[in-house]
Amino acid sequence: MRRVAANFSSWTSRRAHRVVALENVISSWTPEVNFLVLIQDSAEAEQILDLVARGVGNLGWIESPEVELGDVVMPISGKGTVDVSYRCSDVHHTLFLTNRCNSNCLMCSQPPTKGDDGWLVDEAIDIVRQIEYSPESIGITGGEPLLTGRRLREVLDEIHHRHPTTRIDLLTNGRLLNNREIATGLLDGLEASVAWLVPLYGHAHMLHDFVVQSPGAFEQTLEGILRLQERGQAIQVRIVLIEPILERLGDLCDFIGKNLPFVHEVALMACEPIGFALANKEVCDLDLKDWWPQLAQASRTLRRYGVRHMFMNTPLCALPRELWPRAVRSISDWKQVYATECQGCTVKDSCSGLFAWHERGWKPTKIRKMKEIVE
Ligand code: SF4
Repeated sequence: MRRVAANFSSWTSRRAHRVVALENVISSWTPEVNFLVLIQDSAEAEQILDLVARGVGNLGWIESPEVELGDVVMPISGKGTVDVSYRCSDVHHTLFLTNRCNSNCLMCSQPPTKGDDGWLVDEAIDIVRQIEYSPESIGITGGEPLLTGRRLREVLDEIHHRHPTTRIDLLTNGRLLNNREIATGLLDGLEASVAWLVPLYGHAHMLHDFVVQSPGAFEQTLEGILRLQERGQAIQVRIVLIEPILERLGDLCDFIGKNLPFVHEVALMACEPIGFALANKEVCDLDLKDWWPQLAQASRTLRRYGVRHMFMNTPLCALPRELWPRAVRSISDWKQVYATECQGCTVKDSCSGLFAWHERGWKPTKIRKMKEIVE
C-alpha cells in the first residue's frame, strides 16, 4: 500500500473509493460504488459539486499527480493524503485481513499484534467492491487470515462474486485447517479459485516449530495441507531461505518429494529484511551465494520428484546461473527497487530486484551486475 499526497472533496469519508475520469462518472455510476473523480482544475471540482447538489450520491473529487484512474483509495481526513489500497496498473495486488497470528516466525516481516482488528476484513470487502477491472490475481495476507474465521469465507465469496476470473493467492500457515469444523466452513462449496500458499520450514517438528516459535505447528500445518489436498485445492509450499532452514534444506525438499508430491509447486524465497528478521539478524542476514550448493541440490531433489519449484525475491546475481530460469519477479511493485549497482545490468528486466527497505536491512547477496558475472 502506498500513502500519497492528495486534495479531495471535504465531504469525502474514509471509505474505499474508486478513482474515475469525469467523462465516465455518469455512465459507470452505481449506488454500490463510492466514486472520486480525478480532476485537473477547480472548474471540474465545480462540476462535481453541481452533480452532488443535483442528488448524485457516493461522489466526490480528488486531485493528485500520484493517483491513477482505476485506483481504489482511502482518503485520510485532515492529512491531505490518501492510501492507495489498490493500484490498477500494478501486477501484484494484496488484501490485508488481520495483524493477528498464531505463530511467531523468526523472520516474520509483519510482526503480529493482539488487538481486535475485524475492521480490516470490512475494509478488504469494501476494496473488492470498488475494483472496476478484475485483476488476474489478488493476494490475501495477514497476520494469519484463518484467524478471521468465517469472515475469510465472506472475503473469498465476495471476490468470486465480483471478479469470477480472478485467482486468489491466500498466504496462510494452514494450522487451523487441522480443525475439521473450520476446514468444512471454509472449503465446503467454495467456488473461488484459490491457491493456498503454506510455509513449511522443516522436515521434522523440531525445526519447523523452532522457526515458527510454536510447539505443535508442524503437525497442524501438515494436517492442514492434507485437508486441502483432500478437497483438490492448489497448494504452494513456501520455504524462506534463512540459516536453520538452509542447513537442512536437502532434507526438507526430500520430505516434500516423498510425502507431499501432490503440491502444486514449491517456492523458495529470500528473506525480507524487515520486522522480526531484523531482530533475528544472526540467522536471517546471509549471502545466498554462500549457499549455492544447497540451493542447487534442493532444485535437483525437487526435480527428481517431479515437483515444480521456483525462486522468489531472489535477484539473479544471488543464484547460480543454472537456477536463473526458475527465478520469478515476485516482489510487489510498490516494495521493489534496484540497487545503484544494477545500472547497466543486462538481465535487469528479468530480475526481481530488491526489497525497497534493503538499505535498512541487507541485500540477499553482494550485488554484481550481469556483465561482471559473465566475466
Ligand atoms: S545486478 Fe541488479 S539487476 Fe542485475 S542481477 Fe543483480 S540485482 Fe538483478
